[in-house]
Amino acid sequence: MDVAIFGAGVAGLMSAIALQARGHRCHIYERARQSQQMGMGFILVPEGINELRRFGVEVAGVPTLHYYCRNEAGEVLYEEIMPGGARSVRRADLIAGLVNALPSRDVITFDAALDGLEFSPAGDVVAARLVPGKQIQADLYVAADGGRSRARQTLFPEWPAREAQVMELVGIAACGRAIEWAGHNFNKFHAQGGGLAVGVVPVSKEQVVWYMQFDSRQFPPPAESADARRDFVTRLAGTWAHPIPLLLSLTDFSGVHLWRPVDTDVLPHFHQGNLALLGDAAHPLSPFTSQGVSSAIADAVALAKCVTAPQAVPESGIAEALAEYSAERRAQCAPFLAQGRVLAHDFLAPGSSVLLPIAQ
Ligand SMILES: Cc1cc2nc3c(=O)[nH]c(=O)nc-3n(C[C@H](O)[C@H](O)[C@H](O)COP(=O)(O)OP(=O)(O)OC[C@H]3O[C@@H](n4cnc5c(N)ncnc54)[C@H](O)[C@@H]3O)c2cc1C
Repeated sequence: MDVAIFGAGVAGLMSAIALQARGHRCHIYERARQSQQMGMGFILVPEGINELRRFGVEVAGVPTLHYYCRNEAGEVLYEEIMPGGARSVRRADLIAGLVNALPSRDVITFDAALDGLEFSPAGDVVAARLVPGKQIQADLYVAADGGRSRARQTLFPEWPAREAQVMELVGIAACGRAIEWAGHNFNKFHAQGGGLAVGVVPVSKEQVVWYMQFDSRQFPPPAESADARRDFVTRLAGTWAHPIPLLLSLTDFSGVHLWRPVDTDVLPHFHQGNLALLGDAAHPLSPFTSQGVSSAIADAVALAKCVTAPQAVPESGIAEALAEYSAERRAQCAPFLAQGRVLAHDFLAPGSSVLLPIAQ
């Protein structure tokens, strides 16, 4: 079957890998002009890593063994062993690993944003419009176009997607001393008053990702400029314990990204007719769950399984196959959305939660 995929992020690339492995012909249309080197990194839970490896995707990064929650002075408040096999990975390395696992790079067309979808009276997509003015047709349409998905807005124009109260500034620094200090551990420093924390995650032998989570009502987010971001982070955490001041001094703030997560209820369904929503397009998850990447991978694998079942022939069975995909993935993701809200709520309270920020 011919599959058109919108978005070359984790969900889009993994869908192409999993669907091609089952004999489908895929093409990916990506809004960006080239493969995304942007982004910093994340913690991958073992389920996601196992799926990646099963499909021949090389997973870089470093094993993450312990979680330490600390106060501003660096004293350990709580510690926990990480789920066995968890890793911290640079986003660029994961994207490169996924692209390398595609049969050919020609399956991606860059600078080709999904602009709109045309539907038959029965609700099937009959064509997709791309921004350069091109129309494309396929048997199956996969929307993996991220947290502000055009396809989701088309299917559910009234669905509320508020900006979450907790935002993140994310940076990366090459810092041997921080790597030595952190070892194979994930550390998170919490301000006693609540609503402010800094996470420190080694993602390679040289680089450490740090992120500041902050209550945007208590601490209005900084302006776009590098100087405004440096001033903001330094004012709030510049005197905290080692290695935070060192990491901040070694960070190029022109690359620091302000993340504005979306807070939304679980959609009634992740599909319509021959169109499936995947990854953040289907279910933007709170960063507190650490499940965004692994859920995107699981969506892609579930989709490939459902549409390749014997009854899922393009003409008759595709809508039923997508209904099965939707039911399976909704049931998995709905608890993560709920847990994300609880974790965010706890984070805002004074003496905020010290527990491991991974939804189970
Ligand atoms: C540039 C970038 C950097 C990120 N950095 C981090 C990070 O450091 N830490 C972290 O935890 N999470 C990060 N994320 C989010 C994380 O990758 C996702 O939450 C998770 O991997 C789910 O993946 P996804 O494929 O559903 O969405 P995404 O990874 O967001 O991928 C969506 C893709 O769709 C493309 N796209 C958007 N609109 C259209 C359109 N209309 N037509 C075609 N293509 C479109 C985007 O350019 C992007 O490539 C980042 C996402 C992006 C896009």
